[in-house]
Formats: sequence, structure tokens, C-alpha cells
Amino acid sequence: MCGIVGYVGWREASPILIKGLHRLEYRGYDSAGVALINEKGELNVFKCKGKVSDLEHFIQGKELAGSIGIAHTRWATHGEPNDANAHPHCSESGEIALIHNGIIENYRVLKEALIENGYTFRSNTDSEVLVNLIEYIRTTNRCPLLEAVRQALRQVVGAYAIAVIERGNPNRIIAARQSSPMVVGIGDGEYFLSSDAASIIEYTRDFVYVNDAEIAVIDRNAPLKVLTLDNHDARIDIRKLELSISQLEKGGYPHFMLKEIYEQPRTLVDCIRGRINPETCEVKLSGVIDHRDRFLQARRIIFVACGTSWHASLIGEHLIESICRIPVEVEYASEFRYRNPILREDDIVIAVSQSGETADTLAAVELARKAGTFVFGICNAVGSSIARATDSGAYIHVGPEIGVASTKAFTGQVTVMAMLALAIGHEKGTVSEAYYHEVAAALLRLPETLEEVLKVAPQIADLSKIFTYARNFIYLGRGYNYPTALEGALKLKEISYIHAEGYPAAEMKHGPIALIDAEMPTVAIATPDHTYEKTASNIEEIKARGGRIIAVCARDDEQVRRSADYVIEVPVITECLMPIVVSVPLQLLAYYIAVYKGRNVDQPRNLAKSVTVE
Ligand code: GLU
Repeated sequence: MCGIVGYVGWREASPILIKGLHRLEYRGYDSAGVALINEKGELNVFKCKGKVSDLEHFIQGKELAGSIGIAHTRWATHGEPNDANAHPHCSESGEIALIHNGIIENYRVLKEALIENGYTFRSNTDSEVLVNLIEYIRTTNRCPLLEAVRQALRQVVGAYAIAVIERGNPNRIIAARQSSPMVVGIGDGEYFLSSDAASIIEYTRDFVYVNDAEIAVIDRNAPLKVLTLDNHDARIDIRKLELSISQLEKGGYPHFMLKEIYEQPRTLVDCIRGRINPETCEVKLSGVIDHRDRFLQARRIIFVACGTSWHASLIGEHLIESICRIPVEVEYASEFRYRNPILREDDIVIAVSQSGETADTLAAVELARKAGTFVFGICNAVGSSIARATDSGAYIHVGPEIGVASTKAFTGQVTVMAMLALAIGHEKGTVSEAYYHEVAAALLRLPETLEEVLKVAPQIADLSKIFTYARNFIYLGRGYNYPTALEGALKLKEISYIHAEGYPAAEMKHGPIALIDAEMPTVAIATPDHTYEKTASNIEEIKARGGRIIAVCARDDEQVRRSADYVIEVPVITECLMPIVVSVPLQLLAYYIAVYKGRNVDQPRNLAKSVTVE
């Protein structure tokens, strides 16, 4: 989950590494560190608990010379966040330094064997075991570092992206990956290494994505070389990536999350561009056109996803079942992969992940492909592992999402799912021309609709002050907006640390209503749809029990206004797209409550942006 950066070339490495860490800090942020080799071949390592800014403070005035280095921002899996557990880790002799993203699952056995051979450990991490294993192999087999890394990795079970440097060699970084992201950026006489191409985009647009079970030999004086773990040359495929630096900066907003909420009208333009013809309202997704028969023959669709993507998938289920009349299941990727699921040839698995690196979703994709099932990906990060591992797919094209709590990726995912449902439904003939055009036209108008929705921000900011000290929240919705309620509750939990639960509104009577009192605010989504009257009654029931209600409803909805304590009015569009509209005020509500509570909105505690470990 953490971020790793590396540099070797002709510039001073440390400023590049620190800047890269700042850009990657969304991935992990409990400690940070850097290792550099200067011209004399000396290896200097600095690391400490805390943010990248703490590291910056810590290294002031230290020996930072060197045009080769590796750096890390950690999201602890083994051992608490403290100075000793921070990366880079050095081998027993101090000759080798390593940074690691992921988990070495068999670290205990390896550690015991190393202890028997006289090794001692300064940290509680699994990563330190790997650097000592590399050193042990290098010493006992008297082999070069590259060979020692290769042999060590053959003994490792787990997930990793690693970068290794050694004292006395100011020219070379050895990097490798298995199930954790890693790219090498190719410059002019210099190389960059990162968990995320976006962090080094200001130096180069040429990237090589390292594949699983591959080792990259990044040498200042030689062309990039990539080997497989069984020592064969691997193909090097240089890809161009177009991203602008402004997409990675806050652009005047106090937080990335707020910037990303406000970006949604524009990101949806990018998401829809070239996919819906504005004149004819025809929907075209190349990922569907290229595999038309697969989609036409599909007997079942299974979404696999985690977190917010799982919520988006629940909306996808509703869209596809009603528009395409194909049965849909939505699975937590982490459960699916370990459950020996039944997969048939006429199933389609749709994997949904913002980062395209979510470890459980990637494993679910691999499982499905092994079973011979066709896999379609819905990702944001271009060139990511899931995007590459699937048979076909559609990017959501919403640009880098830096805030840990997902906002624009959620609305982008739902938008892609709506286009997917329309494209398949139209091919299958399960959707009427009128409805097909109605939804497509509403999708085209979404950007201006969201501009309109965003005008509620000042009102929500005021409302949030009233609820800053609530300790629990309930979110209710039905139909298409039941998943929206789940997502609203998740946003609040993630960034404000207030306990919140989402329920289908009618489920209240089956238990949760017992929780209702004046201390328990309820956010009720009651926009016009075929269950509107029922939701309105659910609101009455809560009111009758002394609950306080914030209702999200249509403009001029007098009925709901009478029973709710506060109303957030939103424009009304086609029912199946209402989750996109309603999720915006819920994002803002979570955002402002978290800000008033003084939370670190962009980097909430214990979380990381792309969950690349199980
Ligand atoms: N497992 C390693 C640790 O706990 C790496 C964690 C990470 O990916 O940041 O230090």
C-alpha cells in the first residue's frame, strides 16, 4: 500500500525522491525514509515515523549527496509505525538497503532460519527479513547483488515491490515486483522508479510497467534490463503516459478531496467523451463492441470489487438487471477469491477498482481468468495491473484521485456502468429506444446537473456544523439509492471517524429503528422514484420516535420538508442516474463534518489509497 520512489542519473537524487514521496503520500503515510549513495560509494539512510514533511525536517543539514537513491512512505502491516520499522531497511552488515511495498507471507520461517545463521533484527517488519535474506545469499553463494535478489525472491511467498541498492555501487538499483505496482520512468541518461507513474510525470512520459515475477536492473550506464525470476530476458515495452502536473496538485482548494468533489462535472465530461454521440444519443463502448458476442451470450454477470467500488457495483447490478435483463451478482473480491466460486464459460466477471491495483480484486481477476471466464475491467489508473490483466474493459477517465476517500472515481464508475448497461441492453434489444435515449441524454447532461448540485455546498457546510458532534449516523435509501446510502455512510466513517451505517430504508423496522433517539441523526434519501411514498413513510416513523432527519429530496418537496428537520434539495433526473446526483451532497456532508472535527481529510488515519495488500 505504501509508496516507493527511486532515482539514478545525473541530478541530485534527494529532492526528486522527497517530491516523489509527497506525491505518493496518499498511498501510505505513517513513516518515511530515504537511502542515498554518494560519489564515494557511501550509503546513507535516514528514516523516521510520521509524514514526509517530518522526514524533510529530520534530514535537514544531513549528508544527502548522491545521484542515486531510494525512498519510501510506509503503511505498516508488520510492526507498529516507528523509526525502527520505517523503511529503508539495511542488511546486518549495513551494505544493502531495501524498500518494500507489500507483505512477505513466509517471513517467520525465513527469519528463524536467518537467526539460526547468526542474523539479528532491528525491526519487527517482514521487509527486514528480505534484505537479510538477500545478504545471506550474497555472502554464502558469493554472487552479485542481482543474483542474490533473484534467488531470495524465489524463496519468498507474498506480495512485493522492492528496490535495493548496495554500498559501493552508485550506479545501480535492482527492483522487482509481484502483485504490487511498479513502473520505471525512462529519462535522458537517468531513470526513475515509482509505485505510481503520476509521481514522476514531471520528469518523463516514457514508462515501463514491470510485470509480476520480473526484476528490473536500472543502471545509470546501461539500457534498462528486465529479467524474469527464472533468469530469462523479459520484453521491454515502453508506454507513453499523458497526464498534466496540475492534475496532481490542489489547485487552490484546501484539500484534494474538495478539489475532487468539485471536479466531478468536468471528470464526467472526460468519462463520457467519445462514448455517447451528442447528436444521436448512441452509446458506444469499444470494450463491448470488440466482444459483442460474449456480452450477448452472457448468462450471468459477476461484479468483484472492494469498498466504494463495491458500492458502485451494487448500482451496476441494478442497472444491468433492469436494462439488460441479465442476472447479476456483486461480490466482495476478498470473499470471492477464497470461496471456490462457481464460474461458467458464459459468465462475465466485471472487476472494478479505482487504482487498478487492489490486491483482492486482482486476485479475483486471476482466478476468473484461470477458470476461462471473460473478465471486463472498470479502472481509473491507465496501465494498472487490473487493466492489463483483464480481457477487455473501460477506463473511467476521471484523472488521478489523490484524496483517500473516493469521490470522483465513484461517480465515474457509476457513469461507466450506466453506459455499459445501455450498450449491452441496446445490442440485446432489452431496452426500449425511448428509455435508451432518455438515459443517454441524461448522461450527457450530467456535468451541468452536477454543477447545479454543487451549489448546495454552502448550505451543507452550515448543516455540518450542527452535526459535528454526533457520534453515530444512519443513512437510508431504497432501490438505486440504497447503495448511495451505503456509500454516504462509508464516506463519513472514513474521514470523520464517526460511526455510520447505511440501510435499505424499509429494513429500519427490522432492527435498527431501536437505535433511534434525538442523538442519532438519520440521512434519508427521498428523491422521486417508485418507492418514494414508502421512503416518506419511513421518515415519518423515525420522526415519530424522536429522531432527527436530514433528507435529500427534490426541490419543492413539501411532504418531506414537513417531516424532515433539514432538507438538502437536489435536481431530479432519470431515476437510474440519481445515485450520481445524490452522492455529491453526501460527499460534501462527510467532508465538512470531517473538516469541522479537525480531521486529516486527505489522509485519514489507518487508511491508504490503493489497497495493494490483502
Ligand atoms: N510489510 C511492510 C511493513 O510493514 C511494508 C508495508 C508497506 O507496504 O508499506 O513495513
